Amino acid sequence: MMDFGLFFLLLVAIAIGFLLGWRARGKRAHSENQRSSQGYFRGLNYLLNEQADGAMDAFIDALEVTPETLETHLALGNLLRRKGEITKATKIHQNLLARPSLTTLQLHGAQLELARDFIKAGLLDRAEGLLQELVEANSQYKSEALEHLVEIYQDEREWAKAIHVANQLSHRRFGKSAHGRGRARAHFCCELAEQALEKKDVINARRYLRQALSYDKQSVRASLLWGDMEYQLGNYREALKLLQKVPVQNPNMIIESLDLVCDCYDKLGDKRGLHRYLQELLTHYPSSTLVIRIAEEIRWAEGDHAAADFIAQQLRQRPTIKALIRLIELHLLRSDGRARENLQLLKQLMERVLEAKPDYSCGQCGFTGNQLHWLCPGCKSWGTITAITGVEGE
Ligand SMILES: [Zn+2]
Repeated sequence: MMDFGLFFLLLVAIAIGFLLGWRARGKRAHSENQRSSQGYFRGLNYLLNEQADGAMDAFIDALEVTPETLETHLALGNLLRRKGEITKATKIHQNLLARPSLTTLQLHGAQLELARDFIKAGLLDRAEGLLQELVEANSQYKSEALEHLVEIYQDEREWAKAIHVANQLSHRRFGKSAHGRGRARAHFCCELAEQALEKKDVINARRYLRQALSYDKQSVRASLLWGDMEYQLGNYREALKLLQKVPVQNPNMIIESLDLVCDCYDKLGDKRGLHRYLQELLTHYPSSTLVIRIAEEIRWAEGDHAAADFIAQQLRQRPTIKALIRLIELHLLRSDGRARENLQLLKQLMERVLEAKPDYSCGQCGFTGNQLHWLCPGCKSWGTITAITGVEGE
């Protein structure tokens, strides 16, 4: 049941549409006029008796479809779709499509709305068919149809089709920024590369990753995937070259590449190279994960004391709970009795503070979580989620 305020607005809209339709009909057959009036008053009767569903049906039947009343029908259909009344919205839009009195442009508008009903209802195949017709007809609604097709192929994980459709969209129509189209297409290529890698198809994986970087030079995901692939193949120098692009592509994503970078240097037996690289990162892009990683290197080379001193010195400049927990852990290794108990308590408290905090957030919609998603579950934007910085984060 809809609320009364909304219904009052609807009633006004429909009444205006009804009057327009009635005036436009002019001197048409008296019997038809009478039938519409009866439907209108039947609807009013339902409304006065607070029977919203019956009232809606009666008004839909009473309001004749003409070019003048089309907007009212479309507004009503869209309102119903937004309220989740998909069956009724579909009925209105299908009713419009059956009217030969409408122009091609008006019919295409109704077809786009019907496709949107099907998308909302999860009937993606039916929506796809309607949208493809609009694209093939080179309709004025082609851009909207292409945008919806990208969304559908994205949901169905049909990445090659998504790229094909996105290629037809102009820059302005895609995503929320000028960079959006290239970034989304790069992610589609990365998805294809991942599928190729699952089949151990290295040649095609490389081809897709190259394509991803041609669409978006800043694609961290392509660098990480490609770096990981070369590492698995034993090409450690090549892997390093790819992974070391990440700080330039997006400094907020450095921590995603750290494990693999360390593994590559390790395989190459280049401890000094790793130390130099990590120190350089620390100077320009400090983070708690980086501090902990460097402390680990120091610990193996110089022992627990030196590692703890390093973390303490970093904490003075840039306090973070993650680094503090690591410092406590290092002190726990060498303490006993009351001091050990207190340190244990402190560590547990700090861990509890972090437990309640998410690790990642979306720069676009504010969605937060403990996992890196390439496609934000909140706003469906690609590559907008990064690790949270600050005392409770990185
Ligand atoms: Zn988001």
